[in-house]
Amino acid sequence: MSESKSSIVRTRFAPSPSGHLHVGGARTALFCWAYAKAHGGSFILRIEDTDQKRSSDTATRALLDDLAWLGIRWDEGPAHDGCGPGEHGPYFASQRLDLYHRYIDILLEQGKAYRAFEGPEQLEAARAAARAQKRVYRYDRAALKLDRATIQRYLDEDRPHVVRFKAPDEQPVNVHDEVYGEVTVRPEEIDDFVILKGDGYPTYHFAVVVDDELMGVTHVIRGQEHLYNTAKHVLLQDALGFRRPVYAHLSLIFNPDGSKMSKRDKDKALRNAVRERGLERSPAMPHSSNEAVMSEEHWRSWLSNKDHPLELESAERLALALDIDLPEIDVKDFRRAGYLPEVMVNYLALLGWSPGGDIEKFDQQFLIEHFDLDRVLKSPARFDRDKLLAFNLDALQAMSTEQFIARLRQHGERYHPEYGRELSDEQFAMFAAANHQRSKTLDDPFRSGRFFIMSDDQIVYEQSKAVHKALETGEPNGYAHLEAVMPLLKELSEWMVETLERLLKRYADERADGKLAKVAQPLRIAVTGTTVSPAIFETLAILGRDAVLNRIERCLSNRKLSSST
Ligand code: GLU
Repeated sequence: MSESKSSIVRTRFAPSPSGHLHVGGARTALFCWAYAKAHGGSFILRIEDTDQKRSSDTATRALLDDLAWLGIRWDEGPAHDGCGPGEHGPYFASQRLDLYHRYIDILLEQGKAYRAFEGPEQLEAARAAARAQKRVYRYDRAALKLDRATIQRYLDEDRPHVVRFKAPDEQPVNVHDEVYGEVTVRPEEIDDFVILKGDGYPTYHFAVVVDDELMGVTHVIRGQEHLYNTAKHVLLQDALGFRRPVYAHLSLIFNPDGSKMSKRDKDKALRNAVRERGLERSPAMPHSSNEAVMSEEHWRSWLSNKDHPLELESAERLALALDIDLPEIDVKDFRRAGYLPEVMVNYLALLGWSPGGDIEKFDQQFLIEHFDLDRVLKSPARFDRDKLLAFNLDALQAMSTEQFIARLRQHGERYHPEYGRELSDEQFAMFAAANHQRSKTLDDPFRSGRFFIMSDDQIVYEQSKAVHKALETGEPNGYAHLEAVMPLLKELSEWMVETLERLLKRYADERADGKLAKVAQPLRIAVTGTTVSPAIFETLAILGRDAVLNRIERCLSNRKLSSST
């Protein structure tokens, strides 16, 4: 990059608070943050809530939390967890209306903008006519022909109206983009766009230009979908005598199959599962015998229209009922799925940028030292879930046991509080340690470890070949080993990993030709219901003697039940 590190760089991330922060937004925020920090500048967070219908406080709070979790801290912006505020506030567009009006008035006075009184129906009719004639719709500037007296009368009558920018209609607009190069937009591609809406709120185009100027933003880094909007922004800047920031647009993010990564992917996954299973009705809610996830009408209308995705809450309920995992799209999905924030940051940074060489793994500090725009690619980035998972596994394995226990505890408190209630601190620490090396995510232990917190009579014995083989074959068979080892377990003086290990190994030597699996596998099935669990000694130690003996007894009586039928 040409500028020196000492020039004052100011970047901003300006999300519209209409939902959770998704991967694309998080990547934009990260690049804005990294660029500012790499150049000794400031990173601003601005909440662009100009669309009142689509904005909500809940979404704003969720956004702030998602950013904070990722460790992307803003110097200026809403006050949250030690970040912000700053001297250029307010940082919510909805609190800046007087500022926008001041500049709207300037443009009106200078004849660079004008009021237009057409209602939505009238405009829709004009658009429909353009469609019918297969021409691109442009506002016809009818309002420009109104005389002063008529305008005044309309204003006196309080007629709803918008303010339009009078776009120059001869010169093309040229914008230099740091990633995409020279971009030219022809005048016929820009009509007199609305800058102030009927509800008194500015449009995004207007707010963004005023805010970037007043906040001293030097670099605008944002998603590629805004590349062509930049022409409008540049025209407004010129009309208002504002400075032009440096622009850098970031490519789209694709799934490995080449489709665009989007919130719709969740809906697609649900539709596929429903189709594969040939479901004609909504399944029942989990743990409920008859209440359906959706009413019949809702179900039918959803399935009949691919363009209407289920809203998130129903989608999550349906996924639960179908027992499928929805693809993670939002930052909060990755958090819940047990990815580490530092791994997310590392992986997000690689979506369209690379530090060069073979370096792939790095932390925030490295990013601050190396991030620049000249290594940002314009080709679409590919989101490779397997790679992210591999990164996460590596990061978890590189932790000390103490670190892993602490991180698992945090994750559990938030997403699986029942573990904290059912297990003592000591049991939890053992549960974490036993799972450390086998976990790809912080969620894995909780998903596979439910048997640790179930009551003994809730254990369900899996009906699988592996289970039957371990319990019923061999001489003596698994059941016989369980019967033989039970009294020894009952009498074991101290119930600990080491003593259990000694006991079972001795048992295997004396009674199972030295083959530990002959007794370990039946035990595992007895206490978990399945053939997978952490190492057997740890598993038994965590469960405690009473649960182990109860479960062995249950497993044995299960045999009697199944052999008598
Ligand atoms: N609110 C816009 C968005 O979320 C911001 C675009 C910009 O950075 O200018 O896409």
